[in-house]
Parts: sequence; structure tokens; C-alpha cells
Amino acid sequence: MSSDVLVLGAGIVGVSTALHLQARGRSVVLIDRGRPGEGTSHGNAGLIERSSVVPYAFPRSLTTLMRYALNRSSDVRYDLRDFLHFAPFLFRYWRHSTPHNLEIATRAMLPLIEASVREHDALIEAAGAQDLVRAEGWIAAFRTPGRFEAAVAEVEALAHHGLRSAILDQSAFAALEPSVRTGANGISGAVHWLDPKTVTDPGELTKRYARLFEKRGGQIVVADAASLRQVGSTWAVATPDGEITAPDIVVALGPQSDLIFRRFGYAIPLGIKRGYHKHYTSPAGTALHHSVVDEEAGYVLAPMRQGVRLTTGIEFASPDRLPGAQQIDRAERCARQLLDLGKEVEATPWLGLRPCLPDMRPVIGGAHRHKGLWFNFGHAHHGLTLGPASGRLLAELLTEERPFVDPTPFRSGRFHQVFR
Ligand SMILES: Cc1cc2nc3c(=O)[nH]c(=O)nc-3n(C[C@H](O)[C@H](O)[C@H](O)COP(=O)(O)OP(=O)(O)OC[C@H]3O[C@@H](n4cnc5c(N)ncnc54)[C@H](O)[C@@H]3O)c2cc1C
Repeated sequence: MSSDVLVLGAGIVGVSTALHLQARGRSVVLIDRGRPGEGTSHGNAGLIERSSVVPYAFPRSLTTLMRYALNRSSDVRYDLRDFLHFAPFLFRYWRHSTPHNLEIATRAMLPLIEASVREHDALIEAAGAQDLVRAEGWIAAFRTPGRFEAAVAEVEALAHHGLRSAILDQSAFAALEPSVRTGANGISGAVHWLDPKTVTDPGELTKRYARLFEKRGGQIVVADAASLRQVGSTWAVATPDGEITAPDIVVALGPQSDLIFRRFGYAIPLGIKRGYHKHYTSPAGTALHHSVVDEEAGYVLAPMRQGVRLTTGIEFASPDRLPGAQQIDRAERCARQLLDLGKEVEATPWLGLRPCLPDMRPVIGGAHRHKGLWFNFGHAHHGLTLGPASGRLLAELLTEERPFVDPTPFRSGRFHQVFR
């Protein structure tokens, strides 16, 4: 069997890439070891984060670093046993997070972020997935008045981006979210970001996009990407029904992308930020109407189809280490201070792996040493947001269309650059 392109990985990035290639007349086979949307794309917080115009940088403030070093905060946790595994990534991340480099990353990412909702909207409509998406934005909530005031100042500093937002004092916040506690032990103020959309089941959204791909004639095949081999000028993947070949192959394996790029000699410093989720029922008389981020404790509460989804911040540990309860338990304790959460829907938390590059931008484009090998991975905290936009960019590059975004900042060969 042969096709024009094989896309490895049916997460939000791979599925979106496959759809964009298909829309440009390419025959595409999408390959995954499981079903679409069951990797990291299954369990995220569901924010199509149009308002995240500045990437998450490594903190530079000494107070924040000291707090994280104590390893007691709910937003960032590390497992000391895996220090040697994650330390090289952290060091590079820290070096890339100078104000100057953050400014470069912000400028590079902006066109993709700006296109994020627009690109999703087109797919949501074509896939008939409107029932999974809400256009009510999300709320960044602050416990201490000082942090709230600082956030208001940050909103003003971002005014030139033209983002729509509303500043909510305590009573305005309570009017939108009456079940969330305000006052001395609760929320003192919030910023309601109005441009982003939220998804009530991101795994299902990925599946609906995958179904659209099939409806349009695409094929999804279960196979192990590890079987990839280069045969002359084509690429081949082994499946139970024989090999599939194509002149072009896209690696969209998210956190597992190193499986391929390492083998072909690319020293791309992909790091993993782990994160958990759990769902809870809502006791009678309580309801959560928006996705709310407790900015000081670093977790998200999101109304999802399965219940209220609590997603955690970052855990640094080896990707292979079994899920632990510490981080989700800490986040749950903080969340229960704000909202009455009912019973746990599942006994064990879901663990997801955010695929991250230290310079805060994904790798999108052709592999610089292999013809027909393409990369689209490393979307970190914003893979749901960026899947369709980066799928479009990759498809434009592969089909030699004029790209809608400057692809230079995303090239795979950028990691030998000199730091400033
Ligand atoms: C707790 C948490 C909250 C988050 N919240 C948000 C949010 O609100 N908004 C947002 O934009 N992003 C969010 N993210 C980030 C987002 O989920 C990821 O960036 C995104 O899902 C990455 O998508 P992907 O397609 O690259 O990877 P994945 O979804 O992991 O897809 C990779 C695919 O490759 C397949 N695969 C792996 N190995 C093989 C193999 N050997 N053979 C064949 N197939 C293979 C897997 O089965 C999988 O389907 C969050 C992440 C976490 C962990």
C-alpha cells in the first residue's frame, strides 16, 4: 500500500496535519498505535488559548525559584530521583527564558496563537463538533489582592495585542461563578479572557476531527511508528497487513517524537512536563460555569462532559515513572478551598506528557538532513490550541505553498544557536 504522505501520531497535532494535507489534495494515511486522541490530547484542560500571547518561561525571580526548590507548591513539583533526567532540559529552558529570548519566542508564536481559534472554528464546523465547544472564554482568578492588581497591570501591558477581556472585582466574579468562594479565603478578583474557546471533551474533539478525515477519504491505520524505515527515497511503516510507503512522512508523535528523530540523528532537546487530571461530581446546588484557573495555586477547574475536571500544573519526572498522587492531591486540597467538589469520578488520576522545547516553540517543518521527513511536535502547554494552526503551516510547507506564518523560528536545526 502506498500514499502521498504518512502522518505518525493521531493526537490533535497529527489529525489536524492530516486534514490540512488532505485539503491540499494529498492522499494521507494517519498512523497511531492506538485510537485517535488518546494520548496527551485526551486529557488536557480544554482551553483554545487565544489569549496566551506570551509563552510560559522558566521563572527568573529568586522568590519563585526558592518556592519551587522547596518542592511543596501545587503548581510545580519535581521528583528528585529523576533529577539527572530533567536537569539538562531545565538548564536549557532557563537559558532560553531571558527577557530577550522570551521576546523572540513571543514574536515567533504570535501568528500561530492569533490563528488558533479561527483554524479550530473551520474544523469544528466541518466536523459537526459545535456541541463540544463553548465560546465563553476562561477566567484567571486571584486569591490575594496584590496578585490581582499585578494581573490587571499585565492586562494593560498586553493592550496592544487587542485581546478582549473583562476585569472582574469580587462581586462581578461572584455573579459569574456563584459557587466559587470569594473574600478572605477565596477569590479577590479575576480577569475574564473573552477570545479563547473551551472544549468540554478534548479527546472527543480529536476523534471528531479524525472522523472528518476518514469521511473525506483518509485512512487511519493502527501500527507502531517504531517500525519506520527509509527505503531509498521512500518511507515505510510496517502494519499487520504489510508495509505502507510514502515519499513524505510527518512525525507528530507529541511526547514520543524522540522515538524517530533520535534514530535519524537529530539532537532536538525535547523535554517533558507531566500533568494530571481527575474529574469530580458537582454536589447539588453547585455549578461551575466557566473554566477557572486558580493562578496562585496553578491548576485549572473546567466544566467537562465527565464532570468538573481538575488539571494540575507541571511535574518534572521521567516520562516513564508511574503516576503519583502528590501533585493532584495538593491541587485538590487547594481546589476544595474554593469550590465544593463532590465524589471522584475515577479512582486514579490521568497522567499526560506535555512535549516541550526549551525555547518555548514547537518544531514545525522539514528535517534538515532527510528529504521527505517532516516534524510537527513540541507544542507544550498549547497543543490543543495550536494543533490546527500548526497543521496548516506544516501542510503549506510540505506542499510548497506560501506559508501563512514565517516558519524560520520553528526549524529543526535551530538548537545549535548561540545564546544571548
Ligand atoms: C494536564 C494538561 C493540561 C493541558 N491543557 C491544555 C489546554 O488547556 N490547552 C492546550 O492548548 N493544551 C493543553 N495541554 C497540552 C496539550 O494537551 C498537548 O500539547 C497536546 O495534546 C499535544 O498533542 P500531540 O498531538 O502533539 O500529542 P499526543 O496527543 O500525545 O499525540 C501523540 C500520538 O502519538 C501516538 N504514538 C506515540 N507513540 C507511538 C508509536 N510508537 N506508534 C504509533 N503511535 C504512537 C500516541 O498514541 C498519540 O495518539 C495540556 C496538557 C496537559 C498534560
